[in-house]
Amino acid sequence: MMKQYTVLTLFPEMIIQAFSYSILARAQKEGHIAINAINIRDFSKNKQRHIDDYPYGGGAGMVMQPQPIYDAYQSIPNEKRGRIIYLSPQGKRFTQSIAQQLSKEKNIVFLCGHYEGVDERVLEELHVEELSLGDFVLTGGEIAAVAIIDAIARLVPGVLGKEISFQEESFSEGLLEYPQYTRPPIFMGRKVPEVLLSGHHGNIAKWRKEQSVLRTKQKRPDLLQS
Ligand code: SAM
Repeated sequence: MMKQYTVLTLFPEMIIQAFSYSILARAQKEGHIAINAINIRDFSKNKQRHIDDYPYGGGAGMVMQPQPIYDAYQSIPNEKRGRIIYLSPQGKRFTQSIAQQLSKEKNIVFLCGHYEGVDERVLEELHVEELSLGDFVLTGGEIAAVAIIDAIARLVPGVLGKEISFQEESFSEGLLEYPQYTRPPIFMGRKVPEVLLSGHHGNIAKWRKEQSVLRTKQKRPDLLQS
């Protein structure tokens, strides 16, 4: 079943461009996913196509007005609407387990803010969920939307091909992935660990599991505590 991702944004090219390469470009061609970007500015009722205004109460920066965002959402055909996610530094922090849940959704709409953010009333009216890329502030939601769609879309069946297993990937079992090696067998005097050349699947699996635990302890001990 094809998954449909619709992005409401002031900069649709940022979204379309980002998905015009490699695996996710192919996934769109093959019909596993569809990614649409809707330009919020097209729904301005203003002659100058303004979509922002000064914040009530004063303060620096501009705030995106509610009406163009609301109308942009209403322009999405019913069968392509679904959960609407506002990218926001105030949202729940995005994780691999959220990516796994969202990869099962047929339709997701993403709303990208810009400037100082978005008028609160449209967020309430559209019943948005909020997701954050991390505890830092970006200039706009587009980069967060691209990162999150990328993480979700690669989990959609068929996108990476049947042979790929997500089981061993970082975070999928609460651990980081083991180190990976490819040819040549010796690089700058550094050898590929012997066990990987042995062809002994049992030993390889055991070594990889040990390495996963070891690197998680070294690099992200917080993952082992939760
Ligand atoms: N004034 C807002 C605040 O302090 O919460 C920040 C606005 S930010 C400069 C502009 C837009 O970038 C936001 O509306 C949001 O869509 C996006 N954004 C910024 N940081 C983000 C993050 N960590 N995750 C997701 N989106 C983010």
